[in-house]
Amino acid sequence: MSSAPQKSAWAVAQQQFDLAASRLGLDAGIAAVLREPRRQLTVHFPVRMDDGSTRVFEGHRVQHNLGRGPAKGGIRFHQDVNIEEVKALSMWMSWKCAVMDLPYGGGKGGVTVDPKKLSLGELERLTRRFTTEIAVIIGPESDIPAPDVNTNSQTMAWMMDTYSMHVGYTVPGVVTGKPIALGGSLGRNEATARGAVFCIREAAAKINLNLKGATVVVQGYGNAGSIAARLISEMGAKVIAVSDSSGGIQNPAGLDLAAVDAHKKKTGSVVAFAGSTPVSNQAILEIPCDVLIPAALENQITADNAGKIKTKIVAEAANGPTTPEADEILFKSGAMVIPDILCNAGGVTVSYFEWVQDLNRDFWEEDEVNARLEKKMVRAFHEVYEMAQKEKSHLRLGAYLLSVQRVADAMKVRGIYP
Ligand code: GLU
Repeated sequence: MSSAPQKSAWAVAQQQFDLAASRLGLDAGIAAVLREPRRQLTVHFPVRMDDGSTRVFEGHRVQHNLGRGPAKGGIRFHQDVNIEEVKALSMWMSWKCAVMDLPYGGGKGGVTVDPKKLSLGELERLTRRFTTEIAVIIGPESDIPAPDVNTNSQTMAWMMDTYSMHVGYTVPGVVTGKPIALGGSLGRNEATARGAVFCIREAAAKINLNLKGATVVVQGYGNAGSIAARLISEMGAKVIAVSDSSGGIQNPAGLDLAAVDAHKKKTGSVVAFAGSTPVSNQAILEIPCDVLIPAALENQITADNAGKIKTKIVAEAANGPTTPEADEILFKSGAMVIPDILCNAGGVTVSYFEWVQDLNRDFWEEDEVNARLEKKMVRAFHEVYEMAQKEKSHLRLGAYLLSVQRVADAMKVRGIYP
């Protein structure tokens, strides 16, 4: 197997799509449409910095497919954001929404910036000006952003306010992942992690793994990773290693997560947590464990390291952590990979609930949100599992066969305009 560590996320996304399209025997015209994004907008915009200087930033909003509904997907602020990455993330959103049977297409956005190097005021001005630049294509009926890496409910509040100031009235449904005070949904903040843990529970039952006492490793201790760690430890599992962008920590006896959270809040990172030994972001993936949760960025599990991974379940809380070559290696080794477009779909699912609540001006109890999320995640997990069994494939191909077919069906019945 050739190793391709530097393969771009977009190359991976197209390769995954091609595998599914050929297995489905997809119509060549439909496949050609779905291989590329429908629209991509790149913007360069100025931001007044605190020292009085002006800096120009680059950002993107990509709409991959609108066949099943408005584009949906997050906005990422990261120094490595580029158009190829945003294209990949937008394609993955199309499949994710289709796996969950949400009435959305796929979209994604990002700004190339390390937000940790900006003041709060600079971050607000950057967010508001970026929102203004992409306002020509976003809207509650056309394209609905949400949080992603390094963005949060405050970012969404600024985006919602900016969009609303432009149109002259308050439009809560233009973004999801908002603060509760602005029409956000209860349960949205935890939703990605909660959905992932529902999937892990269902997967564990399939392989007779008792989560009580099971060992868990989490790469990426952000919104999804840290909450997934907490939720799975509440089920009796033992989290033995976690990492963030500064590095990782491990303790085979199990980490005290409340203390890790307090340490991260104080120092900005999990690194140097008392009673732990350091581990790198690469080495953390190779720690033997029952459940490995990649919850950071793309391209982490490749042909180079997949053979060294010793786990029973890989639960992809991140988008795109595993390359197609690594998928085959893990499948042969018997590890069950719960693919990103299923595993982390809890976030967009509760985003959908938030949008529905906003459009109806009617808000639900947290228990109701969580119960509806559980029902959708469990149903999607089993649909994917059964498809994979039928096709004798890994779950990723199962998820792609289901979702690509759903998007293709929508396009086919809509027909080509004019
Ligand atoms: N950024 C999240 C994702 O990758 C959530 C997207 C959304 O809620 O629209 O799925």
